[in-house]
Amino acid sequence: MADILDGKTLAERIKQRVRREVASLNKDAVDVGLGVLLTGDNPASVQYYKTTLGACRKTGITAYEFRFADTVSLNELLNSIHAINRDERIHGLLMLMPLPARINARRVINTLVPEKDIDGLGSISVGRLSADESTIQIIRQTGANTMNRDAMNPAAWSFLPCTPFGVIRLLEHYKVPIRGRHVVIIGKSLAVGKPLSMMFLAKEATVTVCHRETRDLGSMTRQADILCSATGKAALVTGDMVKRGAVVVDVGINMLQDGTMTGDVDFRSVARKASLITPVPGGVGPVTVAMLLENTARSARRFNMLHPSMTLA
Ligand code: NAD
Repeated sequence: MADILDGKTLAERIKQRVRREVASLNKDAVDVGLGVLLTGDNPASVQYYKTTLGACRKTGITAYEFRFADTVSLNELLNSIHAINRDERIHGLLMLMPLPARINARRVINTLVPEKDIDGLGSISVGRLSADESTIQIIRQTGANTMNRDAMNPAAWSFLPCTPFGVIRLLEHYKVPIRGRHVVIIGKSLAVGKPLSMMFLAKEATVTVCHRETRDLGSMTRQADILCSATGKAALVTGDMVKRGAVVVDVGINMLQDGTMTGDVDFRSVARKASLITPVPGGVGPVTVAMLLENTARSARRFNMLHPSMTLA
């Protein structure tokens, strides 16, 4: 039976460190601020919105709420992003996806300045990740004062997307070897699968990316030393698709009709084959939120280093 990759406990540790970092910034008169932008009332987005606001409160980060009906115009959204770009109180913006289908989401995302793109979705952040510029955050071992040192490094001024960053952090926390291992990722979205593949490549894994057009998915997944699924399809991954001893990371979040939350992985059959497995809930989800807060604090630290408060003699 597999051991559990416990995201909840790791997330608490990360949040404790963020809390200390926020308190240290507060001593320099810097209030750490996160903008949270939500359009419409998609239940998953509303849930994530509320969770983020609660996590901000617990870590001392001030949340600035931007809520719009799903009838919002593109102009109005762009106006808000421009205001956020200029707002000295806000160090990062979480934009909950999806935006309404009428809205050109890429245009909105790319209007946010990279310095505040703490979920790494903008084209500049994506480019820097692909070019191994921002991966310094995962290549370097994360020590207590990593955030401070990163703040001085121009290569770390872009942020890694929180969910894949959280997956890597979780594996590293449990000392799962990555270099030279065969990683199979199911899902190729810009938010999860694609950046996750680039992070694993930066850490010198051999990476296979599968998606909905992949033929004979099981023949791919059975090769995986580390299998990550991010599709939003409940019970897509079953025990027969997993090599004995593999590490299985379930990013998927699916709400069943009875209201329970489940991942992409059929936990019971897969846990019998895997050596380590993430539960849903309690696996990747909490770490994602923690990484969001860490990125916000990192952004605020950088802001403070670039614009140190001046005292008059
Ligand atoms: P998405 O819809 O943008 O992408 C889904 C991907 O899965 C696509 O690349 C698609 O080709 C692939 N796919 C779909 N059906 C498939 C199938 N039958 N076989 C193989 N591949 C298939 O979704 P996303 O934004 O990447 O999110 C994926 C899942 O991860 C969702 O359940 C989402 O809720 C969850 N998620 C979780 C977190 C977290 O913090 N745990 C964060 C973000 C997303």
